[in-house]
Amino acid sequence: MNDADLMSLMTELGALRRGHFLLSSGRHSDTYFQCAQVLQYPDLALELGKRLAARCDATRIDVVVSPALGALLLGHEVARALGRRFVFTERKDGAMSLRRDFALEKGEKALIVEDVITRGTSTQEVADIVTAAGGVVAGAAALVDRTAADVALPAPIASLLKVDVVTWPADDCPLCRQGLPVVKPGSRGTA
Ligand SMILES: [Zn+2]
Repeated sequence: MNDADLMSLMTELGALRRGHFLLSSGRHSDTYFQCAQVLQYPDLALELGKRLAARCDATRIDVVVSPALGALLLGHEVARALGRRFVFTERKDGAMSLRRDFALEKGEKALIVEDVITRGTSTQEVADIVTAAGGVVAGAAALVDRTAADVALPAPIASLLKVDVVTWPADDCPLCRQGLPVVKPGSRGTA
């Protein structure tokens, strides 16, 4: 499966949508990724996890860490392919943390896995948690890397798809000027 095949598959399954979207950052975009639409198929999650793991250096990774919820399936499959432990962070009262008695050993090398990395905010939050828990950030990996060139990240990203996605401020959006209604996608009914 090359990049074009993966783009086609994601489009076909509704994981890659074109239109006019309000992103969680408040900015508008003509492209939206909902990776859950592809990861809902266990065989595909397994396959994509394997492919992403193959782009990471297993010898430098002791544990895989993902932020709940969207990245859990992929992080789990990457950890399975690497033969490593999988833990996750979750948000409570606005703050992300390791819960459920998850802990890192001192110096344990962590790979951060996300479904989509856009602004790197959650990547940085997870990196801070890894460091605070005594671990070391060994790298980051995502199904889709849509970061802009000016985004500062705590580690280099391995990805299956690197996409340059243009976004605009809500008050200066060409799609708004065309009168296209904006859609707020995603996380219906969940935090
Ligand atoms: Zn707009």
